[in-house]
Amino acid sequence: MTAVLNPATEETLADIPPAGVEETDAAVARARAAFPAWRAVAPTDRARLLRRLATLVEEHHEELSRIESRNVGKPIAGARGEVGMVAQVFHFYAGAVDKHHGETIPVGGGVDMTFREPLGVVGLITPWNFPLNIASWKLGPALACGNTIVLKPAELTPLSAMRLGELALEAGIPEGVVNIVPGKGSVVGQRLIEHPDVAKIGFTGSTEVGQQVMRGAAGTIKRVTLELGGKSANVIFADADLEKAAAAAPYAVFDNAGQDCCARSRILVERSAYDRFAELLVEATRNVKVGDPEDEASQMGPLISAQHRETVASFLTSDVRIAFRGEAPKGQGFWYPCVLVEASPDDRIAREEVFGPVAALIPFADEAEAVRIANDSAYGLSGSIWTRDGARALRVARAIDTGVLSINSNSSVRPSTPFGGFKQSGFGRELGMHALDGYSEVKNVFYSTEG
Ligand code: NAD
Repeated sequence: MTAVLNPATEETLADIPPAGVEETDAAVARARAAFPAWRAVAPTDRARLLRRLATLVEEHHEELSRIESRNVGKPIAGARGEVGMVAQVFHFYAGAVDKHHGETIPVGGGVDMTFREPLGVVGLITPWNFPLNIASWKLGPALACGNTIVLKPAELTPLSAMRLGELALEAGIPEGVVNIVPGKGSVVGQRLIEHPDVAKIGFTGSTEVGQQVMRGAAGTIKRVTLELGGKSANVIFADADLEKAAAAAPYAVFDNAGQDCCARSRILVERSAYDRFAELLVEATRNVKVGDPEDEASQMGPLISAQHRETVASFLTSDVRIAFRGEAPKGQGFWYPCVLVEASPDDRIAREEVFGPVAALIPFADEAEAVRIANDSAYGLSGSIWTRDGARALRVARAIDTGVLSINSNSSVRPSTPFGGFKQSGFGRELGMHALDGYSEVKNVFYSTEG
């Protein structure tokens, strides 16, 4: 049995029997058997089933939010927002089923047309930081395209995905189409990657495991999409609304206790505004309410595990220049405070993903240096630009090598817009109509019209 904990209290929430290779193979076989009938469901009926699932998520909104809050240690207000997004994602893909068109292409001697065919059985492997959200980002487009699913949630946080699997059945999605298999990455995950009947792996997690997914998938030429780590830059020019940028910056790093692949954990500030901005940022960070996730006023909960807390703490070596260290509850739970550090672009803290509530403040001289520092990273997932100069905002947005950016805002994840990384943050896109490309193959058919 695997004990699933509440990271805020260290209490056991459930004991889950971890699946092995045999259970994984059985789930793949169920998904394979369900595929022919599922792909043949008329698009409007498939859309109706996805819409019913979205509605069930809405009806179970509070229950799912509590599960997620307790299992991940998320403040309940944030968990509610995330579950709200899960419903929106299923609504979006319900609407997308019959809008993912093929083409007709002008050719001589007949008609050439393309179809979007489902891949078959897809294996979905998800992380512990946004368990239900990330599951929905993959399930929505995969189901909309007519694939069947084996989903392996993270060992630490399987509960919300398991409940979603039950709701999928309740929605009328046929048995075998959605299979949730909790278990270890090295067992269930690895088996999905190698299984000859799995056509694709949709993976979100660390860059290190992403490399293993790619290597493992080579054996069967599986399709792979990878959503991996990040070290995103929040670039603040001196002409920005500094008050607004500073008020928003803590949420962009400390939300989900910094365990967010999109965390803008490098805060780049134009030197002439650096002192003023740092002062405002320390004040805003001091106001972040760290405490019991079930308290409606809490803004930040604990880290996911004792082991992860050790990893986060290991970044704050004695040579790191700490500008501010907040408060966190003592006693039970894997608590860690918000920390702001002053850094240079070459420091470890400015280069590696901490995946905790630690932000590095880095000064820059001018626009060219801001772009150079922002791009001086193996990652390229997300980022923000704050300036009142519209031309510069667009110039810098085009120059920064990341998949997702926001200008005068830190919000860049929406059901209808593409999400994914450049460089070692991965490839393939989730959300929006773009995600459908990753869960279908283009088939080209020529039909002769010659007599
Ligand atoms: P992880 O890579 O350790 O685990 C992710 C998933 O992979 C889990 O389900 C795990 O069980 C599974 N896994 C582990 N080893 C495996 C193996 N050998 N074969 C197959 N599956 C295996 O990542 P994590 O610690 O759960 O999550 C944190 C990481 O995820 C961070 O690096 C973060 O940036 C990244 N992340 C990225 C995004 C994104 O969209 N880009 C979103 C959330 C998290």
